[in-house]
Amino acid sequence: MKLLESVVEFRRARAEVPGSLGLVPTMGFLHRGHMALVKRAREENDSVAVSIFINPTQFGPSEGYQTYPRDLRRDLELLKAEGVKLVFAPPPEEIYLPGFDTWVEVGALAERLEGASRPDHFRGVATVVMKLFNIVRPDRAYFGQKDAQQVRVIEKMVADLDLCLEVVAVATVREPDGLAISSRNTHLSPEERKAATVLWSSLSAARDRWAQGEARARILKKVIVSTIDKEPLARLDYVSTADSKSLEEVDTIDRPTLVSLAVWIGKTRLIDNVTLAGR
Ligand code: AMP
Repeated sequence: MKLLESVVEFRRARAEVPGSLGLVPTMGFLHRGHMALVKRAREENDSVAVSIFINPTQFGPSEGYQTYPRDLRRDLELLKAEGVKLVFAPPPEEIYLPGFDTWVEVGALAERLEGASRPDHFRGVATVVMKLFNIVRPDRAYFGQKDAQQVRVIEKMVADLDLCLEVVAVATVREPDGLAISSRNTHLSPEERKAATVLWSSLSAARDRWAQGEARARILKKVIVSTIDKEPLARLDYVSTADSKSLEEVDTIDRPTLVSLAVWIGKTRLIDNVTLAGR
């Protein structure tokens, strides 16, 4: 496994990798969720590259860029054990040269849901992922369904800008009690950690109601809101039932529908989602 910290070095090492290459973009501090992406990439490609880059341009002013957890040494051990070939871990100034001022903006799709709560977030994501695609030149790139809107935004960018690679979405990896694994979970106190199970339990309750025949979005949302309301440490930011491709809100679950939410648990904002198949 090679660790590369500059674009020039990475390109040189990449040129020597034969066959197909899968890319897993991450911000490091790796957990089982990230490793599921790496494993899938290894199954489907001759070699795997992982990027570790805490992207400053996707964080809002009070979103904790400075305090984002990092542990490069541990990350490298985990990646080495999985047979990863290339690790790209550049410092911010390698990616954003002085005067950097070209951005990728995915339109309406990026303005809803997370985009409404976090202005400029997806502009930062799309721009850095575009740069990573250009530097790494992967055949396939792997993203977690936990960040469902991110997957859609990247798929749209790839389609709209004729990028020559396949975007693969990997199912969310969860703790045994259902909580989606996230580096943000480390911010939770033991009490908050217990309360955080309300995200998945509310989504599961809505999914169960749907399985029993309920197709009205407003009723499914009510199920979620009332479950969250019962947890004193939780405060709902948004809940959405949206067409899983366009992310436009739907009234009736008559097509594949993304049910997603963002919830504050104390000072930590968590997201989760489930897709209903439609009938
Ligand atoms: P991050 O380091 O948080 O930017 O995440 C890097 C990639 O890992 C993104 O595509 C995430 O969607 C994905 N990811 C994070 N947590 C999980 C999880 N619990 N299950 C599956 N994928 C995940």
